[in-house]
Amino acid sequence: MPLPLGHAAIGLATCETMGANEHSSSRWGMFVFIVILANLPDVDVILGLLLQGNGNLFHRGPTHSLLFALLAGALASHIWRLSTRVPRMSFLLCFSLVFSHVLADMVLTAAPVSLLWPLHVYWSPGISDWGSVTHAVLFQSIQDAGIIGACLVYVIILRLMRGSLKEQRVAAVARRRSR
Ligand SMILES: [Zn+2]
Repeated sequence: MPLPLGHAAIGLATCETMGANEHSSSRWGMFVFIVILANLPDVDVILGLLLQGNGNLFHRGPTHSLLFALLAGALASHIWRLSTRVPRMSFLLCFSLVFSHVLADMVLTAAPVSLLWPLHVYWSPGISDWGSVTHAVLFQSIQDAGIIGACLVYVIILRLMRGSLKEQRVAAVARRRSR
């Protein structure tokens, strides 16, 4: 199952796919913002832990839906107005980052998500306390190595393809000029 590192890698690959060259304050700020948005739906785990010591209480409920991704994406694309340290990213990119999390959970795990909430809702069964959540984040993230590797290969291929397309375009312009 994708944990924070896996979701971060998928978020970075999403950003690369969209060719995001946004007006960011810094590359580091952009990186942090991408990682936060790609993991945002799992804020339901923290809420459950804080309220009743059970990370599964609200897990995979409303925050794992298309509607949440739309709302969070809209909000996130305006946060830059509050601080110059927050990168300015388009609604489409912010939405895609949050939604990449929902899709990854849906496709890469056996348990469902609440994709069409409020039309239907799913809650994770069982109890997951502070200890098991911390253990999963710290030690099971190694399972995400496959996802991180796949994202890395994908980004490299994408960059190579874009690079060769650019070269072809430059060569075509040069040929036209030399005629
Ligand atoms: Zn999740």
